[in-house]
Amino acid sequence: MQQQSRPADVVMLGLGDVRVLGAAEVDGEVELSVETTATREWCRGCGVRARSKGRAVTLVRDTDAFGRPVRLRWRKRRWRCCEPLCATKTWTERIAAVAPRAVLTERARRDACLRVGRDGDSVAEVARAYGTGWHTIMDAVRGHGQPLIDDPARLADVTALGMDETAWLKANRDHHTLYVSGLVDTATGRLLDVVADRTARAVAGWLARQAPEWLARIGIVSLDPHRGYANAVGVHLGHAVLVVDHFHLVQLANRVIDDVRRRVQQQQTGHRGRKPDPLYRVRKLLLKACGDLDTSGWARLAAALTVGDPDGQVTAAWQLKEITRDLYRAATIDQARQALDLLYAWADTSNIPELRRFAGTVRRWEHEILNYHRTGGASNGPTEAVNLAVKRIKRVGRGFTNLHNYRLRLLLHCGGVNWQTQPAARLRGRRPQLAA
Ligand SMILES: [Zn+2]
Repeated sequence: MQQQSRPADVVMLGLGDVRVLGAAEVDGEVELSVETTATREWCRGCGVRARSKGRAVTLVRDTDAFGRPVRLRWRKRRWRCCEPLCATKTWTERIAAVAPRAVLTERARRDACLRVGRDGDSVAEVARAYGTGWHTIMDAVRGHGQPLIDDPARLADVTALGMDETAWLKANRDHHTLYVSGLVDTATGRLLDVVADRTARAVAGWLARQAPEWLARIGIVSLDPHRGYANAVGVHLGHAVLVVDHFHLVQLANRVIDDVRRRVQQQQTGHRGRKPDPLYRVRKLLLKACGDLDTSGWARLAAALTVGDPDGQVTAAWQLKEITRDLYRAATIDQARQALDLLYAWADTSNIPELRRFAGTVRRWEHEILNYHRTGGASNGPTEAVNLAVKRIKRVGRGFTNLHNYRLRLLLHCGGVNWQTQPAARLRGRRPQLAA
């Protein structure tokens, strides 16, 4: 245990050589008058001893103390150089705990970054808590967050890499839907990076920036069969085993259900899905795994399909999705092959174009799909966890228009950043020790 023999106010404040001159309560906040303990100063220009030239008061917001907001009334010393020929005339003192002209102490800025980055609070929320503007908090997130995401240790020890596209900005009058590619450590669920666009080139560019030793350690690469990512992987990760994982293929099968449902809906009702349409009402239930449906879910699904799907096309697509799930649930590679055969037979005899197209994709990627079982069935948990975290940040950020900020926020939240927060030591003894 470390103990320092410094005045209690200096220790409690914890801002270095700064002491408390007085405390007042202003509108439920604590206002502390503080000053540095320095009494002498030398000129930075010529080294001559400086003369005090009075004080200037600045207000700085600090982190909460004892559950109340705190502001510091810092009586800053001003100094003048005694050497008449020196170019450095006057200056105000600086301390490491408060950046020049800052309205927040460094630890408050760090705390703001932690709340926005790690905890996923919105910038506006934290700005309100600190009584500052949005930009002050965003500056703090950038200032403290950028070095954390740039830390090379964040990307250490990756052996399984996943790549995934996410819609970043919805289409509007000025642009189509904008996409980003996310690179994920699928073993631990770390988001490694986010790059603009969903092309092979975007991912290849990122891979090209990684060290050869880093690339050499990647043994498994999971990808979306729909995208050209495989081309990027071939160049830089030719040694790795390619896997089309559960998550992506089920996602693709779900897209087939959506496509068939929309087409059948249109044929049945003559218009796009509306709230009272039976199929439209079960559009989310259709995508659920059958094991996750409860009795009422089953009943609603069956009723909607009876009315809205007279030819059984949506039902066939739903069945195809369940076979796809079975393919990944298979305990052995032989069982997986059986599921594959069933999938092909089901799609080929269905005479439904969307299903046949899906089977075509599966055929092209059969080897990579079965690799899922060859590599011991890498878990989907981490990838799905990252996807949920990404959704959360997008919701909080309500339409990031700046890719730089979006990337920063995502990586701070689920990029495996080392926040190095000091854990509190356990207080010993269960019962309070009362002084006699
Ligand atoms: Zn001087």
